[in-house]
Amino acid sequence: MAAVGNTMVELDEDQIRVDLAAAFRLAARMDLHESVANHFSATISSDGKRFLCNPKWRHFSLVRASELLLLDADDPSTMDRSDAPDPSAWCIHGAIHARIPTARAVLHCHPPYATAMCGLADPTIPPIDQATARFWGRTVYDMEIGGPPDEQAEGARVAEAMVGNTVMMMGNHGVTVVGETVAHAFEELYYLERACRNVVLALSSGRPLRVMDNALAASVVRMWERFTDQGVAHFNEQKALLDLEDPSYRD
Ligand SMILES: [Zn+2]
Repeated sequence: MAAVGNTMVELDEDQIRVDLAAAFRLAARMDLHESVANHFSATISSDGKRFLCNPKWRHFSLVRASELLLLDADDPSTMDRSDAPDPSAWCIHGAIHARIPTARAVLHCHPPYATAMCGLADPTIPPIDQATARFWGRTVYDMEIGGPPDEQAEGARVAEAMVGNTVMMMGNHGVTVVGETVAHAFEELYYLERACRNVVLALSSGRPLRVMDNALAASVVRMWERFTDQGVAHFNEQKALLDLEDPSYRD
């Protein structure tokens, strides 16, 4: 249940299942996934503690809405279930959903360009175009990796670092983004990988970067803040493309 004023509104679990399943299919199409690892989740309760996530070792391109696991961050027996999720999904996503109820969707993966950036001594994304400047001054660079992501302490640490933020570049690891909806989170992930690709390609020229000054970068961030609806439109268009080719994600 989500609070709107003093009114409690039921979150639409069916719609969230379809959107989250679409996000998996789209991530596979865009090469944001890796093997049968990585996890996306979305909460169906206003306290964030009941959330959907992908079944263990299911390929992103095969995920269907009906097979998403429904987990409870307060249920200590979760990992004893016969269909228990991957431990890192439980530790990281459970911790973020429980700590940040407004993070309705949590997307974690190892997309190639962003992960390459996370392997640099300094993974900071320089503002060199509109995509990169989107992340200027509003990205957590978590260089404190404390151990494997399947440990409770690491989940709690990551969740704490994510408070008040929506984008995290995880040193020696990958990326995590959160959003108020699956669509908002997916747009953040999409642009994060585009931004990192632009940086890597620009660096590959061997020529100096033309980095925006702070005032210009800040103005681009403000521009993006006026375009939050674009992410929803983009996600809906991408779902329309999926529907043309293979609507089975909705099953
Ligand atoms: Zn990971």
